[in-house]
Amino acid sequence: MTSQWQTMPWIQGLQPYQPGKPLAELKRELGIDDAIKLASNENPLGTSAKVQAAITAALPELGRYPEGSAPELRRALGQRLQVAPEQILLGNGSDEIFTMLCRCFAGPGVEVLVSQYAFSAYAIAARSVGAELIQVPARDYGHDLDAMAARVGPATRLVFLANPNNPTGTYFPAAALDAFLARIPEQVLVVLDEAYAELMTALDYPNGIERLGEHPNLLVTRTFSKAYGLAGLRCGYAIGAAPLISLLERVRLPFNSNSLAQVAALAALDDEEHLAASLANNRAGLTLLEQGLHGLGLTTLPAAGNFVTFFTPRPAQELYQALLQRGVIVRPLGPYGMSSHLRVSVGMPEENQRFIQTLGEVL
Ligand SMILES: *Cc1c(COP(=O)(O)O)cnc(C)c1O
Repeated sequence: MTSQWQTMPWIQGLQPYQPGKPLAELKRELGIDDAIKLASNENPLGTSAKVQAAITAALPELGRYPEGSAPELRRALGQRLQVAPEQILLGNGSDEIFTMLCRCFAGPGVEVLVSQYAFSAYAIAARSVGAELIQVPARDYGHDLDAMAARVGPATRLVFLANPNNPTGTYFPAAALDAFLARIPEQVLVVLDEAYAELMTALDYPNGIERLGEHPNLLVTRTFSKAYGLAGLRCGYAIGAAPLISLLERVRLPFNSNSLAQVAALAALDDEEHLAASLANNRAGLTLLEQGLHGLGLTTLPAAGNFVTFFTPRPAQELYQALLQRGVIVRPLGPYGMSSHLRVSVGMPEENQRFIQTLGEVL
């Protein structure tokens, strides 16, 4: 589609983000009523009853603009994470934080560093402001932090790290992160995306927030979309040094964090039972999926977070379609250049079982 519009030159080369196929779409296209969606790393337990009650109670106030700076939520998060509210910035999902970061720190002539196979929102955010995206080759599908540190140059302003990374599920341990941070010049901002932090159980998994004091050029992002089950409300946040957060505040849209997201996130923080149930379901689901896939003779990437990425013996797109026909939606990874892998998100126990059984049939 050519058009009369004279866009900025870098916009032409962008590809829109490809989300997981929605259930409603599969129903429209194939008439499948009982499909299951294991394609977007959502919390299969959904939104907790306590959160739903908080949202319902807030509905009458929807006629008013939210408090854009989300003071109550920032205070609650600050207490939980042992940082000052001035160190927290709310976003319309953590995705929006990546775009704010790029608006502040990137543009034509600036390099933004990511790993090969890194979460694609970074690339879209960087390229949409005309920055040069540098993809450093992965090692065993994970971030090669040594190579990334070595690639930092005079034009580099931003480095995005996903720990664990989506879609590969790989994570790097504390020692690797510390060695990396020690090598990064102070004028280069390191963004550490910890979207799955609450779900991580590995003992050597580093907590970025504990490293903020020592590294003023570090910014950590987290989200309510995964462990807390609020993906539909779009609520993510960044934690960093107060001067850095105040820079980002300058490009924040006035009401980027909506009123329902704020009350829901506050309620979700207090709902420890739902979080515990989500963690338990996730752990059991990861085990079931990994064992099931191995039982089918398939190789998986090491899984962290709430999904498993596996090698496919046939072209992944073909298997993806065959699963779709049987009402099982998973995620093909073509946009990442991984045409022999599929990613499956942890679902409820019966969904995980149905996926393994259906995959066995189509293989
Ligand atoms: C899901 C995910 C996010 C979260 O995005 P939101 O915009 O907060 O929903 C961020 N980073 C990674 C690596 C993810 O997988």
